[in-house]
Amino acid sequence: MLVVAVLLVTVLMRVAIVCAVAYLLLPPDPLCPHCRSTMLPIRNRVLDRLLPAIQRRWCLECGWNGVVRRGQARPTRTAAPPAHRPTIS
Ligand SMILES: [Zn+2]
Repeated sequence: MLVVAVLLVTVLMRVAIVCAVAYLLLPPDPLCPHCRSTMLPIRNRVLDRLLPAIQRRWCLECGWNGVVRRGQARPTRTAAPPAHRPTIS
């Protein structure tokens, strides 16, 4: 019986390690991994309830879609308006 318990724990540890590595390999932020634009979240009730740490997103710029880690929204790469605009007279 002890052998079965040790093997079961070993298998569970392998599954945990694989899940942790797969989670760390996902893109960490809501920016597209190809063009660094802001991506839109794709809502999926099943995925949101089963795995709340990840989120499926879609890039408007290049069309990439995939699973990313759910995290804090960061500022996008869109250029800020110029603070000083030279006037032509
Ligand atoms: Zn993109």
